[in-house]
Amino acid sequence: MYSIERIYIDGQFVQPHGQEWFDLYNPSTGDVIGRVRLADAQDTEDAIAAARRAFPAFSRTSKEQRIAWLKRLYEAVFANVDRLTAATIEEYGAPATRAGWGARYAAESFLHMAHTLEKYSFTRRIASTEVVMEPVGVAALITPWNANAGFICNKLATAIAAGCTAVVKPSEMSAIQTQIVTEALHDAGLPAGVFNVVTGRGDVVGAELSASPHIAKISFTGSTAVGKSILRAGVDTMKRVTLELGGKSPTLILDDADLEIAVPLAVTSGFQNSGQACIAGTRILVPEGSLQDVIRLAKEAVSAVKVGRLHDADSAIGPMVSQRQYERVQGYIRRGVEEGATLVIGGEGHPDGLAGYYVKPTVFADVTNDMSIAREEIFGPVLCILTYRSEEEAIRMANDTVYGLHAYVISSDIDRARAVASQLEAGRVSINGAPHEPFAPFGGFKQSGIGREYGTFGLEAFLETKAVLGAVGLKPQ
Ligand code: NAD
Repeated sequence: MYSIERIYIDGQFVQPHGQEWFDLYNPSTGDVIGRVRLADAQDTEDAIAAARRAFPAFSRTSKEQRIAWLKRLYEAVFANVDRLTAATIEEYGAPATRAGWGARYAAESFLHMAHTLEKYSFTRRIASTEVVMEPVGVAALITPWNANAGFICNKLATAIAAGCTAVVKPSEMSAIQTQIVTEALHDAGLPAGVFNVVTGRGDVVGAELSASPHIAKISFTGSTAVGKSILRAGVDTMKRVTLELGGKSPTLILDDADLEIAVPLAVTSGFQNSGQACIAGTRILVPEGSLQDVIRLAKEAVSAVKVGRLHDADSAIGPMVSQRQYERVQGYIRRGVEEGATLVIGGEGHPDGLAGYYVKPTVFADVTNDMSIAREEIFGPVLCILTYRSEEEAIRMANDTVYGLHAYVISSDIDRARAVASQLEAGRVSINGAPHEPFAPFGGFKQSGIGREYGTFGLEAFLETKAVLGAVGLKPQ
């Protein structure tokens, strides 16, 4: 049994003031595997105070110094990739390949930000004005459970690159992964108070951070509902916000696509991270005339997906993170049937031979864009196939959503795919399965969020712009 009894404030692991304990589960079995003692509002205030004390000196460190720290942080987290992978399998239920990728990705975010910083200039000139980019202040970094370590590391890397100090509020459901990351970050030896980690409830620690007058910036990844509450809570102190929220991303299979390639690609995109991915392509839009072929190929593709046996290299789908998430997904599968969609494969209940929070990978056909399974974020391996009659209709359907995080286009003609991409309301469009690009901006249109992460766009979200007029070459008048 794990017992996580310390949070991290001012460069030290300390016992929280908070008294509440929270159970940690193995989602593959549903068994309790440990517990974490949660931070409270007092702990949050202590962490904010430590970050405030560290800010004046840290904000004045040189770019070279911060690049050196980012590289040390990379090495420290990279040295713990195996531990982090094992914890992600056990506590989150990720298949080993995904968990290993996620752990390496967490470490590499520091390296990516170091590279971004190397090329970034904090000053530029406009006529006689010097424009200076300055760190915004103490940042609160709030993460969800579906890639907890990656979000902690990417947000922290960006804050540090900018010269901000930080209070991290990780998901309370990921405390084992957080503990490993925090120990690694501690090993890198940054000045005390530069980062602080307070695991606690969203409505306690998260709410305290969102309202605190001493937090200048919030970088949040999570649900749209909580993102809105953070925006409301932050308005009185005019916080800068980056909100990475939910999605209901479309995959447009154009009528020139090779379906034998396109359909498995669409299924893989929809099932990434066991379907618990904000960017999952969960609405597959196909030409009306291809529907029967698409259904046959989707059935084949889903049947070939390996569910469970998480340590096998070819395992692709793990359990849902929690009982609550399991029930949420079951509820949507039930609603899909009630709403009149046709079950192509999957359905309610556990897959054969699996218990815990496993759900059956499920595909619906005959879905229309007004059904709740096509409109709401399910956050599980449940995909909808919708049909269109023309490219214009496909684009209209793709954009007919409150979300706008990601979209996928599959076509044998790149120019055509680009033309379609230019009409999609989404922060990212991936053509023909193009993978994640860590230096390109990431973020949502519409209710998928505000702002961008990664690369220069992400860095500037932690900076204020100051124009010093007359700084260059003017004599007093
Ligand atoms: P969530 O919104 O419930 O929680 C996210 C974090 O916010 C957690 O740390 C939680 O404790 C905290 N929180 C909860 N209430 C809060 C409050 N009142 N004030 C401040 N913080 C609070 O989301 P989740 O269930 O952990 O994650 C799943 C959601 O995250 C999905 O909607 C998914 O689409 C979204 N997500 C988005 C992205 C993206 O980059 N756009 C990436 C991953 C996940």
